[in-house]
Amino acid sequence: MITPKDHAAFRALLARAKLYVLVTHVNPDGDAIGSQVGLGRYLRSLGFEVRIVNQDETPPEIRFLEFDGPFAEAYDPARHDGLLDASDAIVLVDNSAPDRLGRMEAPVRTRAAKTFCIDHHPTRSTPWAGNVIDTSASATAVIVHELVRAGGAAPDRAAAEALYAGLATDTGFFRFNSTSPRAFRVAAELLEAGADPTRCYREVYERNTPAYTRLLGRALAGLSLATGGAVATVGITLGMIDACGAAGVDTSEFTTPLLAVDGVRIAMLFRELPGGKVKVSLRSKGELDVQRMAAEFGGGGHRNASGIVMPGRFEDIVEAVTARAVALAADGR
Ligand code: 5GP
Ligand code: MN
Repeated sequence: MITPKDHAAFRALLARAKLYVLVTHVNPDGDAIGSQVGLGRYLRSLGFEVRIVNQDETPPEIRFLEFDGPFAEAYDPARHDGLLDASDAIVLVDNSAPDRLGRMEAPVRTRAAKTFCIDHHPTRSTPWAGNVIDTSASATAVIVHELVRAGGAAPDRAAAEALYAGLATDTGFFRFNSTSPRAFRVAAELLEAGADPTRCYREVYERNTPAYTRLLGRALAGLSLATGGAVATVGITLGMIDACGAAGVDTSEFTTPLLAVDGVRIAMLFRELPGGKVKVSLRSKGELDVQRMAAEFGGGGHRNASGIVMPGRFEDIVEAVTARAVALAADGR
């Protein structure tokens, strides 16, 4: 829950600034962009100047969240370090971990004294001046909505839809176990404010390219199962991406059909990245905690959905991480 202290901290933030820069994690997702747009439109409605600056561009499938033209800008030190200096406050959204800022880690860290963080990921400690971190919130969009609403404002239609999309995507359209009565209450308020759930779903999930679907097919054809079927893995190499013309395709949803295989409790997708790195997307069911497992390899996330980016040979990483997942599935630790 958000505490009275959190609300007071947010009010203090609003009293202080005229120019805000909103920042989120690398590879922004629906909750990251949705929360930034929702918060950004609210701050603009109060007469403040707002810029969104992220390390990575908004992926095409969630660009609709920016509404009237581009809102988020891709970080460029030459253009944005001066802006970060000129800003009264930096608001870090859907991310509290400095190392998930990528190239923006140093520029934001050196300005930590004016950085305010709004997040729902578990974190041990942060360097930021202010934090509203609520791990019981299904999405950062929930926290943003509750903070804004406490100020007496209703989001405009575009902000409502952005926040709804953030909440919907982070809960797998209200089916992950992070889904709560509170999530539905916020969703109801966002629909009342004009969010269109059909449009959100269509924009996010029914605009795949043929290359996406071909790559999905190739990846799934390589399914392998371990531990009597409890651990499902697929791999995507740069060669496969090339063959399907699928550069830049977001593949983290490829884990969904893996979890749909009867008996599977841990699903993993290994994706080869340029520059000798591998991205692992981990998903689990119930009590099995892939976040702790991901942390052992330098990654993180949530109990049932985590990620790792690590350097190394593709085959070696598949072997090491799979062995760890097999142990987790076997004894729950
Ligand atoms: P995905 O597999 O969808 O990219 O990521 C699932 C979740 O894992 C995300 O919501 C995010 O919280 C977390 N995550 C993904 N990649 C990383 C990473 O490289 N480091 C950390 N700490 N967390 C990650
Ligand atoms: Mn989130």
